[in-house]
Amino acid sequence: MTNPFRKSAEYRTLAASNREAIEAYNQHMLALLFTVGAVMMIIPLASVPFSKTKGPLVPLYIAVIICFSLLALVAKLPSLKRYTLLALYIGFSIFFSSSIYLSVFHSPHTRATILIGVLCLVPLSFIDRPLRMNLFIAFWVILHTILAVVFKPRYAFDDAVNTFAFAILGCFFGNHTILIQVRGYEIQRLLTIEGETDSLTGLYNRRKLFETLENPKTAISGIFMIDIDLFKNYNEQYGHLKADEAMKALARTLQAEEMITFYRYGGEEFVGLCPQGLTKEELHARAEALREAIAEMHLDGPPITVSIGVALSGDMERLSYESIIEHADRAVFAAKQQGRNRVVVDSA
Ligand code: GH3
Ligand code: MG
Ligand code: MG
Repeated sequence: MTNPFRKSAEYRTLAASNREAIEAYNQHMLALLFTVGAVMMIIPLASVPFSKTKGPLVPLYIAVIICFSLLALVAKLPSLKRYTLLALYIGFSIFFSSSIYLSVFHSPHTRATILIGVLCLVPLSFIDRPLRMNLFIAFWVILHTILAVVFKPRYAFDDAVNTFAFAILGCFFGNHTILIQVRGYEIQRLLTIEGETDSLTGLYNRRKLFETLENPKTAISGIFMIDIDLFKNYNEQYGHLKADEAMKALARTLQAEEMITFYRYGGEEFVGLCPQGLTKEELHARAEALREAIAEMHLDGPPITVSIGVALSGDMERLSYESIIEHADRAVFAAKQQGRNRVVVDSA
C-alpha cells in the first residue's frame, strides 16, 4: 500500500514545477465542460417533437445552449486564466446543488442517481490538490446526507451508502489520474530541458539557438561569437579533463552576464544573443568586459582567452539570421588574425 502522504508531497513538488501545464489543462477542461454542457442540451431539445411535456422548455434549452457556448468562449480568454480553478469549483458547486435539489426536493421518492454520476465525474475533471478536491466532494456528500435524513428519510440510508461509496470511487480514480497526469507533465518538462541543454556546460545547445533564431518573435540587437584561443593546444598540454573544466568555468562566466543569453554553438564556440535596444558601443563594451572576465578566471590549469566576434543585427532582414552568424564568424576570424584575445565588431 503506497503512503498517501508521500503521494501528496509528490503532487505538491510536481505541481509547483508544472504550474503552467496544469493551468492550461484546467482552462481547457473548463471550456470543454461548457461545450459538452451545450451539446448535451441539444438532446432534450431534439426530443421536443416526440415529447408531450418538454415543449414549454424550448426557450430554456436554447438559453442554456447559448449561455454555455458563450461561457466556453469566455473560459478560453488568457486574461481569465487565474480564475479557472475558482470557476471550476463554482461551476461544480452549482452542478452539485442542482443534483442535490433533484434528489432531495424534486424526486424525494427515488434514490439519488444524478448526484452519484456527478460524484464520479468531478474528481476526474480537473487538476488541483487532491486533498482540497476530496474535501470539496466530502462536503457535498455530507450536505446531501443531512438533507436526505431530514427531507427523504425513507431513502436516506440507501442514499448515504451509495453516495459515500461512489465518492470514494471517484476520489480514488481522480487522485490517481491527477498524479499520473502531473508525472507526465514532469517527464515532458525534463525532456524539453534535456533537448535544449548542452550536457557539458549547462548552456542552451545549438538546437535551441536555431529554434530561437527561427522564432519570428525573437528580436535581437546583435550576436557574439566566442571562440576559445588555441584550445587544441590546451587539450594536448593539460589534458581533456582540465580543458573540460575550463569550458565549464567559461560557461559560468557567460551565464553571469545577465542581459545576453548564451548557447554552445559547437566544440569550443559559443554564441550570445543580445536583446534589442543595445547600441553598437554598448555591445562592444559588454563583449570587452566578457573577454576580460574570461581571461581573469581562476582555473585549475592555466588561464584561457577568447576571441569574440560581434555582429549587429541592424537593418538586417529577419530571414537572414544565417547571414548574421556568418558576419559574426568573419569577425572572430579577423580577431584570430589580429593576434587573438580580442573583440572585433563586424563592420558591415
Ligand atoms: P584557435 O585559437 O584558432 O581557435 O585555435 P583552436 O585550437 O582553439 O581551434 P580549433 O578549432 O582548431 O580547435 C578547437 C579545439 O577545441 C578542438 C578540440 O581539441 C577542442 N574542443 C572542442 N570541443 C571540446 C570539448 O568539448 N572538450 C574539450 N576538452 N575540448 C574541446
Ligand atoms: Mg573553434
Ligand atoms: Mg578555438
